Amino acid sequence: MAESAVQSRNQKQFISSKVEFFTESVIREMTRQAYLHGAVNLSQGYPDFPASDEIKRAAQDAIAKDINQYAITWGAKNFRQAIAAHVKSLHGLDLDPDREITVCCGSTEAMISSLLGVCNPGDEVIIFEPFYENYGPDAFLSGAKPQFVKLLPPATEKDDWTFDERELRAAFRPHTKAIILNTPNNPTGKVFTRAELELIRDLCVEFNVLAITDEIYEHILYDGTKHIAMASLEGMRERTITINSVSKTYSVTGWRVGWAIAPPSISDALRKVHDFLTVGAPAPLQEASATALALPHSYYQDLAEKYHERRRRFIPVLNEVGFRCSPPKGAYYVMADISKFKFADDVSFAKYLVEKIGVAAVPGSSFYHNPKDGMQQVRFAFCKKLETLDEAAKRLKKLN
Ligand code: GLN
Repeated sequence: MAESAVQSRNQKQFISSKVEFFTESVIREMTRQAYLHGAVNLSQGYPDFPASDEIKRAAQDAIAKDINQYAITWGAKNFRQAIAAHVKSLHGLDLDPDREITVCCGSTEAMISSLLGVCNPGDEVIIFEPFYENYGPDAFLSGAKPQFVKLLPPATEKDDWTFDERELRAAFRPHTKAIILNTPNNPTGKVFTRAELELIRDLCVEFNVLAITDEIYEHILYDGTKHIAMASLEGMRERTITINSVSKTYSVTGWRVGWAIAPPSISDALRKVHDFLTVGAPAPLQEASATALALPHSYYQDLAEKYHERRRRFIPVLNEVGFRCSPPKGAYYVMADISKFKFADDVSFAKYLVEKIGVAAVPGSSFYHNPKDGMQQVRFAFCKKLETLDEAAKRLKKLN
């Protein structure tokens, strides 16, 4: 056996069995592939247009003013106060910034700190699928077993994704600790209705289950759809962890500033994990994020309108070139059916797309626990400049 093979076999003994059960993120791998092949990157969901000058200046000022040392581990006080004021104005909830808000390194860290803070080995966590990739490894690393509930594609353009009430009820079992909810949803664009949230609320109360809701796309909504915060429903405030971040709303995904809102005892638990995992999110960027949260109402209207224009421009292109998809109700992704292209699977299609067509998308299987379920889908992110989308359209037309 070659020496390098022996070395690699010997090194394997040092690896934790925990990491054998999942791969690195395919979403982030596709961004690397896009760079490698010079493709238009519609895989990872980050904007390629600039953030507002006002908040960029706030970040520069914070560094110049020497806000360069650790913030309080739960988050800078003025930023937590700004989050409380923002949530009050949007959802009418009165939060105690000292006991109920924890600033984390992005919603990514908020989610895993939450799960590590509440789950014991043997607990089960309900996840709607298709689901944002991170939730699978997050549940696994926290010792919990995911229970998946299917989201079913819309029947017509006007409809949204749905789920079967009986399937959801059956997923609530004696060991269920939490349900992870992402609304507006990545990757489907589904925006859960009040009736659906109330149904989930009733099940959470009946089975004594926690809701962990990722509401990072709350401002990206189409066709007059409204976002309802789970914690604002009667009976849910005391059993909800709400996760959010500045990444998507203010187009600053690289800042890594997010937060978790939870009742004091649950906040205490996730704060312990957060403290030892990361100590805190970047201090000057928390300062700038406080400025972001104070932007006027018109900022959010403008954001939604800009995304509306992108959706209007891009979804018809996909359908014209042979994908099948409906316009999402929220967020900035679309799951597109690829069966017309007659590829063996989503991975070989995504490879062809990035290497030969010059557009990066995410293979659908990345969003399902059973890869077969996503075999005829890919996900596109359309949070890009109009000219980027036009260039992607030009390239995608080569599929015809
Ligand atoms: N939410 C983004 C996506 O789904 C990516 C987030 C990330 O890579 N951390 O593409």
